[in-house]
Amino acid sequence: MGREKLYRAEAVVLHRQDMGEADRLLVLYTPDHGKVRVIAKGIRKPSSRKSGHLELFARSRLLIARGRNLDIITQAELVESFEGLRTDLSRISYAYHVAELLDRFTDEDIENRPLYDFLLSTLQWLAESENLSLTSRYFELHLLDYVGYRPQLFRCVQCNDEIQPVENYLSAEEGGVLCPRCGEHVPRTRPLSMPVLKILRFLQTYDYPTCRRLQLRDAVSRELELVMELLLSHYLEARPRSLAFIRQLRRERQLKNKTKHGTM
Ligand SMILES: [Zn+2]
Repeated sequence: MGREKLYRAEAVVLHRQDMGEADRLLVLYTPDHGKVRVIAKGIRKPSSRKSGHLELFARSRLLIARGRNLDIITQAELVESFEGLRTDLSRISYAYHVAELLDRFTDEDIENRPLYDFLLSTLQWLAESENLSLTSRYFELHLLDYVGYRPQLFRCVQCNDEIQPVENYLSAEEGGVLCPRCGEHVPRTRPLSMPVLKILRFLQTYDYPTCRRLQLRDAVSRELELVMELLLSHYLEARPRSLAFIRQLRRERQLKNKTKHGTM
């Protein structure tokens, strides 16, 4: 028995790349096949009926034909465009970040339906949330969980003692928190303040509707971002590219606000 020539799949478009004169290579995340790479033929022609149904970060229903190398999209129907995401450059930049991480943390053809559902929820949150960076941290921490890298935040990863409410250390290589005694002797750690450890534990323990109410001070929010970047970069063996863009955007907005309010 050969494989079916055609199959149906729901998918979110994570990444798009132009190919040839009118085609596009799409990286999709699907509930049944995990990440897949497919071709959308002729999608860049003005007459294409598929183009509006295969927007970046949109959820679509597809009919796909098996190809010799890459599968080919034959039909596409938009299910949810997450319109709120597209109203604001900042929201879009966070959606890029989520898509980049999901793409880089997953392999092709490995089903992970809970992760697909989590992606849909995250896109919805990013379309609506007033606190995009907190939402993004929630995604990052739970993404690590879904792909098998849940950081240990309650016990020292070396001596297994319960972590005390003092300044501890974080080690990406060791996969979690180190007590002050052990942390001193482990290379490539960073100090981890108690407020940030508390937030990490909270985000890891509670669901999003509970976590979204957290109000973080700027200093805590910044440290949290750096701590998560350290963990992510370790597993990716590179820094997430989208974070640089998010930071640049933030700097430009701060500058603009300063000028607007006349603090020269
Ligand atoms: Zn220890």
